[in-house]
Amino acid sequence: MLDRLPQPGSDPLWSLISAFRADPRPGRMDLVVGVYRDESGETPVPEAVRRAEARLAQAAPSKAYRALSGNAAFNAGMVRLLLGDVPARLARTHAMQSVGGTGALRLLAEMIAAARPDATVWSSDPGYINHRPLMTAPGLRFETYRLREDDRALDLDAMLDDLKAAVPGDVVLLHGCCHNPSGIDLSEPQWAEVSAFCAARGLIPLVDMAYQGFGDGMEADAAGLRRVVDENPTVLIAASCSKNMGLYCERTGAALVVGESPAAIAPVGPLLERIARASYSMPPEHGAAIAAEILVAPESWLREVDAMRARVNGLRSALGDALEAEGADPAFAGLRRQKGMFSLLPLGPEEMRRLREEFAIYGTDTGRINVAGLRHEQIAPLARALHAVSRI
Ligand code: PLP
Repeated sequence: MLDRLPQPGSDPLWSLISAFRADPRPGRMDLVVGVYRDESGETPVPEAVRRAEARLAQAAPSKAYRALSGNAAFNAGMVRLLLGDVPARLARTHAMQSVGGTGALRLLAEMIAAARPDATVWSSDPGYINHRPLMTAPGLRFETYRLREDDRALDLDAMLDDLKAAVPGDVVLLHGCCHNPSGIDLSEPQWAEVSAFCAARGLIPLVDMAYQGFGDGMEADAAGLRRVVDENPTVLIAASCSKNMGLYCERTGAALVVGESPAAIAPVGPLLERIARASYSMPPEHGAAIAAEILVAPESWLREVDAMRARVNGLRSALGDALEAEGADPAFAGLRRQKGMFSLLPLGPEEMRRLREEFAIYGTDTGRINVAGLRHEQIAPLARALHAVSRI
């Protein structure tokens, strides 16, 4: 059997990460890995997480098996974080703890495939690299819609034009905030148009919320999602605690299914639990227990997220200033406006190769960089290198 195993091609991200680790040059920059880093280059554990962990260690709860749906307090806390404390929304929402945001996407993909195996999932181009494998794994079709034109702003006409080919029951994947990889988000009026478009055509929004709090704030970042929930009969949500709680390796997330009424969501729980049972059974408890504690009294955690967001925004404007001082191409100006951890540089694979080879600066060949992985001392050399490789 083993001699017949298909060989997946090497993962471009992991190849770059390995090349970065093997690069001996001082001053090398890893802008590939999608984690937040502080000024010392570390990915910190938020104080709120440390305190919750200490309390949990003190309480030493049993490690006995938990429910297939995960930690109930966590699920309830996540619903309120995402949808607000609005009884009409909560009554029509089912939540299931998942193995990170990735696990939530996969659970939802399996659920969609169980109900509508012929559905197409429409995702943005450019988009998150893992959406296609996650959605096609259970056999769903996958198509893309344009997100932006050359000026690097969101092009709603192009997006909706492409989505006109979607048929009722198809799924439209939207990034709740901080689009990965472009940092280009829908504005409030654009959310209104997309929401109305989906409702009018019977399309099902699937909102991927992996960076809540990193865009404009915890509440503001959920505004588009909440509108979509209020205006559409069925909405799917994949949420991650990896970035905003720093729980990356604890694999903590939630899949939410919003139906037209409380009765409409009755079949959701048993099906999601059967899917989980056939895969990993129960999700890991530790991260969810931490998050549940934090969500009961979130104030200090929210201040920590505000600080992370302020730092990333500060890096964006410092990089914008440094590029302007270099006299760099105005096409870089989008870096200031974009939201969250990532941006797509206006550079092609050849320029990205030069950045690696000549300057030891590692981003992806598509031009994606993790702005949240920068330190302030790296801004000036990065701006110089970007200007150098973008000159003809
Ligand atoms: N969705 C998007 C858009 C992401 O960028 C990521 C992570 O980078 C995920 C989902 C997956 O999150 P998690 O690490 O919690 O599985």
